[in-house]
Amino acid sequence: MPRQLGADVWLITGGFAPGRQPDGNSVVLEGPHGLIVVDTGRHAFHREKIEAFAEARGRPVAAIVNTHWHLDHVSGNPALKSKYPGARVYSTRAIEAAIPGFLRPSAEQGRQFLASGEAAPEMAEDVRGDIATIEAAERLLPDVPVERSNSRKLAGRRLDLRLARHAATAADLWLYDPKSRVLVAGDLVTLPIPFLDTACPEGWRSALREISSVDFRVLVPGHGSVMARPQFELYRTAFADFIDCAAGTADKRLCADRWVAAVSPLLGIGEAEKQRARSMAIYYVGDVLRANGGKSEHCDA
Ligand SMILES: [Zn+2]
Repeated sequence: MPRQLGADVWLITGGFAPGRQPDGNSVVLEGPHGLIVVDTGRHAFHREKIEAFAEARGRPVAAIVNTHWHLDHVSGNPALKSKYPGARVYSTRAIEAAIPGFLRPSAEQGRQFLASGEAAPEMAEDVRGDIATIEAAERLLPDVPVERSNSRKLAGRRLDLRLARHAATAADLWLYDPKSRVLVAGDLVTLPIPFLDTACPEGWRSALREISSVDFRVLVPGHGSVMARPQFELYRTAFADFIDCAAGTADKRLCADRWVAAVSPLLGIGEAEKQRARSMAIYYVGDVLRANGGKSEHCDA
């Protein structure tokens, strides 16, 4: 069941099951003219939770906001728009360059992975789903491109849309709802670890500083549990330390250990999530940041 976060705001939790690709968290806000859905997940089972909620509320989806173009946040757009033809997608235009620059090459890698026969059945299903999404990637483009930060009414509800350039992607959005004081951070705040695959760490750091200046009550990360300010500030400090560590000469395993130790109060109690965070951290330090001079190969800032 969606969890209510404030006045007419609900969270539909994403997931990151072992052996599968993740779904980002979705947030649904209700306005006078319908529902505003922030991020639509990757898997059909995630999107169906959004649809079930809309049906239960008896309201149409009037607007979709994508915090960024990663497939765990946008893949539900086409099906939701088919079901609710009035829904308009608000996002940055960063996806236009990402289609040829990142998504099509990753679909090709996916085809090779499937051809190798090495994919376990569930992962193969996710890879096939992503390939199908990318083959119709023009359906993910914004109806209303967001070119700058502003306050605007979506479905009749006033929201602050904030643009962060060169952060998790070339242009991310985050969103603040003054009525409920809920802030939706997208993948600028992500556990068990920031997904740095397309990141510019310095722009990301600035975006976290801007988020910190907002008087939010509840912050919804792109992945992981809802945070209050102390948790967010812990994350922000850990992020800065992790990027600094990656920029230095310390062993990448040490940077990973420090990350996991710093955010352990924010992680689940099981060892599995810590192990996954640690192995991803080692990969990001070595293969993504240090291999490309301190930023991902997709960062052109
Ligand atoms: Zn994500």
